[in-house]
Parts: sequence; structure tokens; C-alpha cells
Amino acid sequence: MPERMLKFVHLAQRLPERRGAAERGHDFDEIYRDFATTEAAAQSSRCSQCGVPFCAVHCPLGNNIPDWLKLTAEGRLEEAYEVSSATNNFPEICGRICPQDRLCEGNCVIEKGFESVTIGAVERYITDTAFARGWVKPIRPVREQGASVGIIGAGPGGLAAAEQLRRRGYQVTVYDRHDRVGGLLIYGIPNFKLEKPIVLRRWELMVESGIGFELNCRIGEDLTFADLRARHDAMLIATGVYQARDIGGPGAGLAGIVPALDYLFASNRMGLGDRVPDFDSGLLDAGGKHVVVIGGGDTAMDCVRTAVRQGAASVKCLYRRDRANMPGSMREVKNAEEEGVEFVWLAAPEAFLGDDTVTGVRAVRMHLGLPDASGRQSVEPIEGSHFTVKADLAIKALGFDPEDVQGMFGEPGLEVTRWGTLKVNHRTFETSVPGVFAAGDIVRGASLVVWAIRDGRDAAEQIHRHLERQGTLAVAAE
Ligand SMILES: Cc1cc2nc3c(=O)[nH]c(=O)nc-3n(C[C@H](O)[C@H](O)[C@H](O)COP(=O)(O)OP(=O)(O)OC[C@H]3O[C@@H](n4cnc5c(N)ncnc54)[C@H](O)[C@@H]3O)c2cc1C
Ligand code: SF4
Repeated sequence: MPERMLKFVHLAQRLPERRGAAERGHDFDEIYRDFATTEAAAQSSRCSQCGVPFCAVHCPLGNNIPDWLKLTAEGRLEEAYEVSSATNNFPEICGRICPQDRLCEGNCVIEKGFESVTIGAVERYITDTAFARGWVKPIRPVREQGASVGIIGAGPGGLAAAEQLRRRGYQVTVYDRHDRVGGLLIYGIPNFKLEKPIVLRRWELMVESGIGFELNCRIGEDLTFADLRARHDAMLIATGVYQARDIGGPGAGLAGIVPALDYLFASNRMGLGDRVPDFDSGLLDAGGKHVVVIGGGDTAMDCVRTAVRQGAASVKCLYRRDRANMPGSMREVKNAEEEGVEFVWLAAPEAFLGDDTVTGVRAVRMHLGLPDASGRQSVEPIEGSHFTVKADLAIKALGFDPEDVQGMFGEPGLEVTRWGTLKVNHRTFETSVPGVFAAGDIVRGASLVVWAIRDGRDAAEQIHRHLERQGTLAVAAE
């Protein structure tokens, strides 16, 4: 074992410096500062280079983490970048927004009492350095292929597939209904978790690599699905899930009750310098308001923390279970608490109060019951425990379901599951329509960026094999 590694025994875990809550609560910049070179090398040297790297096993991309940690510890950063980028199209993005506590870092086997290696922070550092030093280059395929692939959706799933296919020499065009590339990376996830220039520089690189983009193009309206099938030899659907789960009950139609994604999209667009009439009118601006966010996932955390930064008078998060049963990452809950968000655990909304515009949310206390078949504890209201929370803006963050894909594309042959996600052959990623593949959230349901990248890469490989087979068949038929 090289002397440079195994330093966890003497060297404590350190993340890059986190800006104080008072400072970061006033702007939308990322909350972690960059690692200094010496710090990144020192933290990498804490890796024990264990025989079975559970970090890599639990990384959806199977990243060769111990290898790039060792190279970073040895100061061989360009090689670390080569290794890291061989399995991940966007390591600097995953390093920032993967829930590492549930994935790689949560499975680091450094003995108990020594905290895990800060894998995500090092991964981010390696690729940020590679960009700064000009090591990240556009794709130059060894040879061009005659075939073309159309991809619907410029989120992480579609983009990872686009890169992999371009690398193989295919002509790739990505279609998206938005005006910028990135999907939820650009308009969903707030800047304080992922600064937008990080996404935009990837877009530039893809354009330089010869990947075509047709933006402001809603498939099903601006172009039909049949148009695309006629244009391309194979298709990939990577359209994500956007049907927000709603909440009914008395007062649900009052003004000032908004879906989480409308709110986050507006904030991200403002940050990018766009004009957003619903922000200017005050509808999607939390400034000076008492804000109540309903939900307990990462989207809810992004909303509460955005509201703090917009200068809300108060921010409360209502969640019907308790802290231990929250789906959102604990790290994000901690960040939100530090920034002044108040969590009201075991509380479910019953009604929205107000005449035309919401003025409050009436909620009821819940208690946790016995686990159901899935092992999750049920929740039941406690009779007579109603209470009211003041609210000028209520944000609904209850999760997302797939849109009606068959209807959107006018393609009844596209089979869906009972959850509305696209049905695919899980080995080949092909849908029920031959030559049409699917990847990312539209197949998995709402998931993670790292899984979308993984699926995009795997689907690209399957599309390549499919086109190879088609090519072979065409030659045989001549
Ligand atoms: C608020 C929020 C915060 C999140 N935070 C995190 C996080 O911190 N870490 C993490 O790992 N994951 C996070 N996620 C989840 C993550 O963003 C998604 O799992 C991931 O983006 C899915 O990638 P995708 O490529 O499948 O779809 P998306 O990123 O949703 O991209 C789909 C694209 O398809 C386009 N599209 C859809 N229909 C059409 C059509 N008919 N025509 C043309 N284009 C179309 C959309 O405009 C979109 O650009 C978050 C999600 C949300 C909502
Ligand atoms: S991609 Fe995500 S899970 Fe994998 S090593 Fe990076 S931060 Fe960890």
C-alpha cells in the first residue's frame, strides 16, 4: 500500500468550506467553496484502497472511485480526470448533486468512527480542474456513421446518450421543448446546488462535438413523433416526469397556491436573466411573504431554500411524517434548518384559508401507525388536533408522475406501465415500438441525475447494437 493512502487514521474528514448560513441565505451561489489542491489531495489520501470498494458498487455508474482518489492523492490529476470521465459524462455535476450519503459515501468502509472519504467533493474538484486547465475536449469520433439518432429530451439522460452515440460517430439531434439544454439540471435544480454555467459549458461542448439541438420544439405539437421516426434510424425518449401530484380540499383553488416546479422554474429563469411575468407580478416571488411548502422530498427542500433567498418573511415546511421518515436528503434538511426554515413534522394540510388569495393553511397533526406491506409506517390524523399556519404563498411539492406519453406523441403503440412510465425491455431499453428506446425518469419514475446518466449510457449502447444489426441486415439483403 502506498504511503500516500490510508490517511483516514490521522486525518479527519473535511468537505470544502461551506459558506455560513447568514451569508449564503442572501444569494443563489453554491454553498460550498472549491477545494484547494492540497486539500483535495489530502482528503483523497484518506481512502483505504480496500479490496472490495463498496463505494463503487453503490455508485450507479460503477465509478472507479479508489483509482481516481489514489491518482488525486498522487497529484496525477489529468489521469484522475481520464479515469473519472471514462464512466461518467458529467462527473462535476454528480459530485455536486448526488445524494452521496445514500450512494458512494454512505457505503465507504473506512472503519466506524472515521467518517467516509469525501468522494463527491473530490469528483467535482477533478473535473472543475480539468475544465480550468483545458483538458476537457469536444468529442471527435474516429469515424462517422451513416445512421442518425433522434433524442427527445435534453435532460441528463438524453444528453449522456447523445454524447455516447456521438462518440460512436452517429449523427445525433436532441429535441427539447425548452429554450436551453439541461432539463431539470437547468430549470429545476436551484443555482445554490448547481450553478448554471456548469450546465451551459457542457452544452457548448456538445455543440462543438457536432451534436445538433432543436430547442423550443415540443414533440407532439411542433413536430410529430412520426416526423422524427421518418427523420432518424432510431429514437430515444428521455422526456422525464412532469405531472405534478396535486392536493385538493377546501380552498385548493385560491390564488397564491402554486406547484413547486412553476416556482423553481421561475427562480432559475430569473437567475439566468430571463423575464418572467409571473415573478414580476409577485405570484412566484416569495419576497416578504409567509411561505408554506407542503412535502418532504428534495423538491420541497429546494423550494424552502429558494424562498429564504428571495427574502421571505418566514418559511415553513409541512410534512406528514417525521424527520426520520423523510424522503429528502438529511444533508439538505440540515442546510435548510441552518438557513432559518422551520419544519413542522407530522402535519398534513386539510384546507387552504382565504377569500380570493390564500392567507393560511389549516393542518392536522398526524401520528405514525404500523408499517404497511411495503414496510413504511402508515400515518393517521390525530382527532381534534387542527392548527393554522399563516401563508401568503403555499407551494405544493408532493412529487411527480409521468405525463400521458401515448397521448403526447399520438402513438398508442407505446406501451406504458400501470404507473404511466414507459414500458421497456430492461435489457435492451427498447420500447414496444421497434427502433424506439427510452431512458431516465420516464422509465424509472422520478429518480436521480446519476441514474438518468447511467440509463442514457446503457440505452446508447443498445441503440448502437440495434443499428449495427440493422446495418448488417441491410448489407445481407443487398
Ligand atoms: C426540483 C428538483 C430537484 C432535484 N434535485 C436533484 C438532486 O439534487 N440530485 C439528483 O440526483 N436528482 C435531483 N432531482 C431529480 C433529477 O433532476 C431527475 O431525476 C433527472 O433530471 C432526470 O433526468 P431525465 O433526463 O430523465 O429527465 P429531465 O431532466 O426531466 O429532462 C427531460 C427533458 O425532456 C423534455 N421534454 C419532455 N417532453 C418533451 C416533448 N414532448 N418534446 C420535447 N421535449 C420534451 C423536457 O423539457 C426536459 O428538458 C431533482 C428533481 C427536481 C424536480
Ligand atoms: S456519481 Fe454520484 S454516487 Fe457515483 S461516485 Fe460520483 S457522487 Fe458518488
